[in-house]
Amino acid sequence: MARIGILTCSNCTQDLNCASVVCLGDLRKRKGLFATYKKEEPIALIGIISCAGCPTLAAPEKILTRVKALAGYRLDALHFSYCMTALCPFIKKYENIIRETYPEITLVHGTHTPRNKNEFREEVKELLYPAVCVPQDMNDVIHQTVKIKKNKQKKT
Ligand code: SF4
Ligand code: SF4
Repeated sequence: MARIGILTCSNCTQDLNCASVVCLGDLRKRKGLFATYKKEEPIALIGIISCAGCPTLAAPEKILTRVKALAGYRLDALHFSYCMTALCPFIKKYENIIRETYPEITLVHGTHTPRNKNEFREEVKELLYPAVCVPQDMNDVIHQTVKIKKNKQKKT
């Protein structure tokens, strides 16, 4: 039996609410990067965890806090989710750090059937920072309130 874990990009799973449905679907169907396992070999998904968020250039080792949660359960392989392979600027650093710390774990780049990475990045960009509707925050509320007040003052 292959005991595997999945590490996802927290931009997708935390900020953008992905429940890893496509990863899990292809795992069940043995598609994408899960097709590399022998058909007769059962796959046990031990767990899924998201990355710890931007590590800055100072501490890419931060990823180990997350990997530790899976590595302690006799993991054979750790899959970097497709989204991580498409989006993460730290992935090579993460790979080296994880390999050094857990040399017994095979690291796999990908999960579900890969898509065009540029197209996927464009879609993610649109979700994180929509072109037609710039995300609003409390400052927009404050500016709007000041504007309304000024308009009222002008009328009186
Ligand atoms: S690879 Fe796709 S399905 Fe899997 S966690 Fe990332 S965005 Fe979700
Ligand atoms: S460090 Fe990489 S995997 Fe983690 S949230 Fe940022 S882009 Fe995603």
